[in-house]
Order: sequence, then C-alpha cells, then structure tokens
Amino acid sequence: MAKTITIRRMGQTMKEGTVVKWYKNDGDTVKKGDHIYEMEYDKASTEMDSPADGILKIVHENGTFPVGTVVAKVYEQGESIEETPDIKESSKTASPVAATTGDQSADAIVIGGGPGGYVAALKLAMNGKKTILVERDKVGGTCLNRGCIPTKALLHSAEVLDTVKESAKSGIKVTGYTVDTKAVNDRKDGVVKQLVGGVEYLLSKRKVEVIRGEASFTGEKSLRIALTDGTSKDISADNIIIAAGSESSKIPIPGIDGKNVITSTEALDFDNLPKELVIIGGGVIGMEIGSVYAKFGTKVTVLEALPRILPNLDQEITAEFRKHASAYMQIETSAKVCSISDSGAKKQVEFELDGAKKTIMADKVMVCVGRRPETAALALDKAGIVLDRNRIKTNDAFETNVPGVYAIGDVNGKVLLAHAASAQGIFVAEKICGIKSEINLDLVPSCIYTKPEIACVGKTEEQLKEEGKEYQVGKFPFQANGKSLAMGEPDGFIKILAGKEYGEILGAHMIGPRATDMIAELALAINSECTVDEIANTIHAHPTVSEAVMEAAEAVKGHAIHNI
Ligand code: NAD
Repeated sequence: MAKTITIRRMGQTMKEGTVVKWYKNDGDTVKKGDHIYEMEYDKASTEMDSPADGILKIVHENGTFPVGTVVAKVYEQGESIEETPDIKESSKTASPVAATTGDQSADAIVIGGGPGGYVAALKLAMNGKKTILVERDKVGGTCLNRGCIPTKALLHSAEVLDTVKESAKSGIKVTGYTVDTKAVNDRKDGVVKQLVGGVEYLLSKRKVEVIRGEASFTGEKSLRIALTDGTSKDISADNIIIAAGSESSKIPIPGIDGKNVITSTEALDFDNLPKELVIIGGGVIGMEIGSVYAKFGTKVTVLEALPRILPNLDQEITAEFRKHASAYMQIETSAKVCSISDSGAKKQVEFELDGAKKTIMADKVMVCVGRRPETAALALDKAGIVLDRNRIKTNDAFETNVPGVYAIGDVNGKVLLAHAASAQGIFVAEKICGIKSEINLDLVPSCIYTKPEIACVGKTEEQLKEEGKEYQVGKFPFQANGKSLAMGEPDGFIKILAGKEYGEILGAHMIGPRATDMIAELALAINSECTVDEIANTIHAHPTVSEAVMEAAEAVKGHAIHNI
C-alpha cells in the first residue's frame, strides 16, 4: 500500500509548511530515507525523507500547505498508481478541507492523544464504550514527543557523561571518551518512538478508533475532523473530552519571533549544540534543558524575571538548587528582558538588572516562560463553550458549561503536569461510565529532573505561613544517609512539614538523590492522612535512600537518630 509524505509538524506552534524544492521528480524510483523535498516552516527549513522504497507520485508541488497535507505518495513497485487531481501548478495555500465524508458516531470522543486524552480513551474503551480518539499528530502528545520523555532521555545521557567525568572519584579512571551528540539524539528519538508505538498498540488492542486529523466543533456534540489526507469527516458523540494540551507562551518583546529564538520543542533537537545559549525563564523547563545543555558544554545563561528561580517551590529548596546549578550555569534573577536582536550571526539579548541595562550575546535564545492552553483550532464558539481567560472553564468534575463536554489536562489550566492530566482523564472517563471516582488536585506531586533532583508535594512553608497554620519542620540531610554517601550523591535534604498539634503531614520537599521516586511515599502519606509518627514507625530498608524519609519524619519531633 502506498505510503504518504505529508507536511510534517516540526514544532508545537507549526501550523503550515512550505514546499520549496523537490529533490526527486514525479515517477522517480526512490529509496527509503532519500531526501524528497525541502520544507520551510516557522523560521527553519528541513529535508523530508521517503518513508519507503518505491515510485514517487507528487500530489502537490511547491506551495504552502497546512500540517498533515499529503504532498506526495510512495507506491510499491507494481502497485497501481492512483490518479490525483492535477494541482501541481498551484502555489497557493491549499484548503485543509477538500471534501467531507460521511457522519460517524460513538459513545465518546476524545480530542487529543496526550497523557490526558489517550489515558481517558483507554479507560473508556476498557469499560465498554465505543471511543474515538482524534489526534492531528503523533499519539503521546507533548509529554511523549516533545516534553517529559525526550527531556528525560537527554538528561540520562547528561548523567552518563557526568558519571564518566567524575568516575575517578569512585576509583575508576577513564582515559578517553567521545561525546556523539547525534547518537544522544538518536537514542532519545528511539525511546520516544518505542513509547509512542506502545501507546498505539494499547489503543489498537483496546479497539479505540484513532482518527488522524484536527478536530473543530460544528455544534455542541458534533465535530468536523480535517483529515491528514486533505478531506474531512463529521463525527458526533454524547460525551466529548477535550484534551488538546498547551503550547509555549511568548513574551511581547522585539525580536521574539526572530531566527534562532527557540522553544523547548526545538531545543530537544540535540544534533547541533550552540556554544552559547541564553534561556529566558528560570522555571522547570529552563532548569531541566539548561542543565542538559550545560553538561554537554554549552555556556548557559538563565534570565529569570522574578527574584528567584523555580519561584513556586519551597524557598529553601530553591536556594539549595541555585547553589548547585550556579556551578554549571550563570543565573541572573530579577532580570527583565527588553529585546532580542541580531548581531552578525549571534543573538544579542538586552535586559535590565538592578536598574542597569545589560547585554548578553549567544548563538541561540530559548524562551520558556510558561505554557498556555491550545484552543485556537477547536472552534469552541460553535459549541458555546466558555473560556476563563484563555483556559477552558470547567467545574470540579472537569465538565464545561456544555453538559457532557469535558476539558482535561493543560487545556483547562488547572495543573499543567502530565500526571495531573492522566488523573483527570481517568476521573472523567469513569464518570462517563457511571463509576464513582475521586481526584484531589491539591495533592499533585511535582518533580524536577535536574541534578540534584527536586520533588515536592503538599504545602510549602511559605504557603503555611500565609495561611497562618501552625506547623513543625523536620529536616534530614542526605549527607547523613549511608546509601547516598555510598552512591557518591550526598547533596541535598528532605524537609517534612507537619501540623503542630497532631503531626499530620502537610507538605514534603526534597532535593537530592532519587527524590523524584521517593516523593510517592509522601503523597500517599498525605492522601491517607498519615502522621509523622506513622512514617517514623514504618521500618524502611537499610541501606536505602528512603531511610532519609523516615529520619526526616523523626526529625519533626527532634528524634532523628543519625543527625544532631
Ligand atoms: P514555568 O511556569 O515553570 O516557569 C516560567 C518561568 O519564567 C517563571 O519562573 C517565570 O517567573 C519566568 N518568566 C516569565 N516571564 C518572564 C520574562 N519575561 N523574563 C524572564 N522570566 C520570565 O514554565 P516553563 O518552565 O515554561 O514550563 C511550562 C510548564 O510545563 C510548567 O507548567 C511546568 O510545570 C511544565 N513542565 C513540567 C516538567 C516536570 O514536571 N518535570 C518539565 C517541564 C515542563
């Protein structure tokens, strides 16, 4: 069967691409991997390759087309070549919707195949609902394709590099090593591909129908899907879950749309590392991606507008992290970025620091100042769905003002984290299936995969002070934990906040080894209304890093054995 070559989405904000050059002619024999055409998109260009061996049939020649438009097909040798409308002379923008095919209905439709949407679709299907999932790109969404997973794969490579560089401390002398950024990039892509394939397999086995295209409302319970082949399809269901995710926010300064001003999406393309990178925004993305680039040798400068990086975290954790991160990144806080301009091949970033104008040069600038819900393509007005600023307004059960239409994950702006989206997806799917379910969005663990790792759940000390709540603090340093020392990772601490009278756990904040894995114990403890005594009285295995959790719980009452 013929394989299609489309206008492929290369970045989250990309809506269309321009075919500027064909490397092959109509009717040519091509091999898998051959460059077929050159595409320009946003501020970049790339070569698109053949997905298979065969005969090339060009469908659209030069022109600008929406993402997903089929511009060519590769037919197997001997396969009959389908005639396509001859629009090769056109250099106009093609309409995304050429013809509408028949209506289709289901029990539930999920818009968006990210960790909110695909999990909801699986849950619905597992409970016997006929479910359609609409996705315009790859299933897995930002998390699998452009966020959590590729970042963690790159962070893993950075950690291996660190291990090699510091191996002499563990008695292993490495005499020579080479960094192959292409291999690092390929490994990351391989991990993503495997996980996306896994999600596709699950959806297919659970009989979720996946429609490839972009959904927009035509009424309260009806949608038109602009399919990737250029045609469209109308579908409807009594229950619709919008899980359309979010996109990178921008700041309104001159030069923000310039060349080599990138978002985290482009930063994940790790094949061509800049010598110098300026990061605007010292939040989660800035710290994670900044760490990776810095560990691979890029000179990284972070410009954060607020007085501290990671401003939503417990202050002590931020201060400890800054101490470590400053060893490999330059961090400027209270820095107000004014403009970005070109200076030869370099970018020039102007910012204000303590009332003085400063300039910094770099090869690239990454902007990570938060994310905003992605609602533009949905035509929400056709269904009368109400927004609250740019977020889809929902009640506590994630239902919009239109009964039976839900919005989960980043698109409702409640908690912009993959695991919060999945939890909302499961909650809503169960509600649709008549299963009683619970969710507590006040208790969402948050993890940052830097070195040292950071993980938090519940209230920060600042929040407790603001609420006037009486609390006690227990802290335990990893320096006093045997396993952490044996691993050569003694930095950081665990801090537990507990109610003054009963010792119920109110918040937990960790910076140090395995923090992102250990936070689950504290989330469970808060969810189960455990006291610090109950954690302290639970025997934790020795030697493990998790003993530090037990000791931090004991420290709340001044009873930690291994710390004075
Ligand atoms: P963020 O909200 O974490 O941080 C944005 C930072 O940019 C803030 O510190 C803010 O003060 C700063 N900022 C805003 N405007 C600025 C300006 N004009 N100049 C300088 N600094 C400015 O956002 P992010 O890092 O872009 O991440 C986006 C979302 O993705 C977040 O909700 C984050 O939680 C999520 N995410 C989570 C993980 C994880 O869980 N490990 C990883 C990546 C992203």
